[in-house]
Amino acid sequence: LNERLKLRGTDDELDRLSHTINGLLDRIAEYLQQRRDFLANAAHELRTPLAAIRSCIEVSLDGDRSVEDYTGILEDVIDQSASLEVLVNQLLLISETEIGQWTYDPEQVDLNKVVSRSVDMFQGVAETRSVTLSFDAKASAIVAGSRQHLRQVVNNLIDNAVKYSRPGGKIQVTTSAVPGEQKVRLTVQDTGIGIATEDVPRVFDRFFRSDRSRSRNESVQGTGLGLSICQSVISAHGGTILCHSELNVGTTIEIILPTWSEALRESGIVPMVP
Ligand code: ADP
Repeated sequence: LNERLKLRGTDDELDRLSHTINGLLDRIAEYLQQRRDFLANAAHELRTPLAAIRSCIEVSLDGDRSVEDYTGILEDVIDQSASLEVLVNQLLLISETEIGQWTYDPEQVDLNKVVSRSVDMFQGVAETRSVTLSFDAKASAIVAGSRQHLRQVVNNLIDNAVKYSRPGGKIQVTTSAVPGEQKVRLTVQDTGIGIATEDVPRVFDRFFRSDRSRSRNESVQGTGLGLSICQSVISAHGGTILCHSELNVGTTIEIILPTWSEALRESGIVPMVP
């Protein structure tokens, strides 16, 4: 790939051809570098919980301990295994969405129901962190897609909003119609720690975690894969996802998805009118 084509000559077409091919070679080289970085990052992230599990086992084999000690060690093993499981599931999802195997028969999904379930699910953890979590469905929100993957996106956004909120914070989830368009808007707005302006464009990059998320106390765990997966899922649904954030003020993630009838129209399927 480091070789460059030199089809120079009097012929203009040859010049243009070699320019195009060299451009393609640059893109392939860049892609291969991204793959190498991804693999290195994935291996690194897998190694961290594995090393912790190993150290727990070594400590528990190393002499007599009280039942409380062993219980504590086993609890750590469970936590670390749970982190491993999340990471492996996220990596699987990335490979599915990436290699284009991700085909599904579009289901009619009521986004309001999906959000409502997710909000109910996170209510307990939000309460324990003294964070208010509410949902306002301002419009009907029927979209076409994979219910399971959309649920994962919504869970991820609410999970982040809770994780990066401070006690007393507020999380507002809203669905609304986009005026004049056959589109649905979903926003998850929090009053949490926010993201530095220079980091905002990077939040959808794989493995990106802001320094503040990494350095905060251990309860803020993450892999830096969640938002990149959300972006893949939303783009596979013909939608867009944006991040607006201000440090120490809060973050809003905004998703726009075509409505069910718009998605069918775009795909050329005519919906049955009862
Ligand atoms: P993670 O598993 O680290 O939460 P994500 O891909 O979901 O990974 O998010 C990437 C990074 O973006 C996070 O590590 C954090 O720095 C930042 N981030 C995401 N959501 C929020 C939010 N609601 N408030 C503040 N920072 C956020």
